[in-house]
Amino acid sequence: MAVKITDTCINCGACIDECPTEAIVDEDDNPTSEEIYYVYADKCVECVDHHDEPACAEACPTEGCIVWDEPTDGLTLMDGRGEVGEPCIED
Ligand code: SF4
Ligand code: SF4
Repeated sequence: MAVKITDTCINCGACIDECPTEAIVDEDDNPTSEEIYYVYADKCVECVDHHDEPACAEACPTEGCIVWDEPTDGLTLMDGRGEVGEPCIED
């Protein structure tokens, strides 16, 4: 399970310290070399057992920037999870 940061990210840094599993890295550590923040899917737990909604998306000031990514087989998904590609938080 995971969420994904899209290319509308403005590298503001608001999300990174909100993540309970340290799944987020900044543009300097983005393994895709894109100049945006990045979520490691194998670390993201969709904030299950931590928050009611993805804390990164709640903190993000850029509307629709953080979206649901492909779920990882066998792992619990957040209740009410949206479709892949839909924003985690609807403004
Ligand atoms: S959804 Fe939660 S666990 Fe996943 S990257 Fe965002 S803050 Fe971290
Ligand atoms: S809070 Fe949103 S815009 Fe800011 S760095 Fe994180 S994903 Fe990018």
